Amino acid sequence: MLCPDCGKKMEEQVIEDQAILHCTNCGGTFFEENGINRISYNDAKLLANDKNFEQITILSEKHCPRDHSLLTPYESKETIPPDVTLLECLRCRGIFVSANDLIFFKKAIGAKIDYFKLWGIPLPSVRAVAVLSVLFFVAVGSFTAFSLWQQQNVSSIQAEDLVRNLYITSSNHYLLISFRTAVPMKSKVIFTDRTTGQTIEKEIKTEPTDYHIVTTGDLDLADELYYQLVLTDSKGNVTKTEVKKLPL
Ligand SMILES: [Zn+2]
Ligand SMILES: [Zn+2]
Repeated sequence: MLCPDCGKKMEEQVIEDQAILHCTNCGGTFFEENGINRISYNDAKLLANDKNFEQITILSEKHCPRDHSLLTPYESKETIPPDVTLLECLRCRGIFVSANDLIFFKKAIGAKIDYFKLWGIPLPSVRAVAVLSVLFFVAVGSFTAFSLWQQQNVSSIQAEDLVRNLYITSSNHYLLISFRTAVPMKSKVIFTDRTTGQTIEKEIKTEPTDYHIVTTGDLDLADELYYQLVLTDSKGNVTKTEVKKLPL
């Protein structure tokens, strides 16, 4: 596991529940697929400062520290500021970023989200703030899921990226929610009716599974309704998605 930039041995670390590889010589970091979206700005700063700069020879050909494939620049004019380079491994979809670029990247994304929040406008796309692999993006798929995702911020992607193919629809006074999870999980949904102030909690799956579906006739669909998915893995760890408005 050698650093793509300087060739020194990288260290395996766990930050915010994700495994990363970090080079304490040049400060470069290798994230697993979609991992760079989930790291907070503060942790990005810690990582970027964790370097000693003994001697750095920048390698001209950069290889993935995990599987040795050639790294190529991740192309997205929308997501990545012009002076920042993220290198992607097309085999494992990991992303390598130098210390300085990691800081610039997280700062730029944070500023962008603040801008949209401040002006109360939805983000034009998840791609505008997240580095997403092709596979992952296709899995998100449907327009419903896409528009829901626009409202989230990057730090909450961790819970969100467990949920795939989210589909919400209504028929008469029935509401149907279905989705998949990356790993088998127990699930429930919490509805909040902001018109009446009522909260309704509904079990979806009481045994771990990767396909979740629930219908309910308990809600007044004319009201202002919000929902939140609560997922529990086999070890009992609970993650929640952001509270979102039902797209009806
Ligand atoms: Zn290095
Ligand atoms: Zn790789």
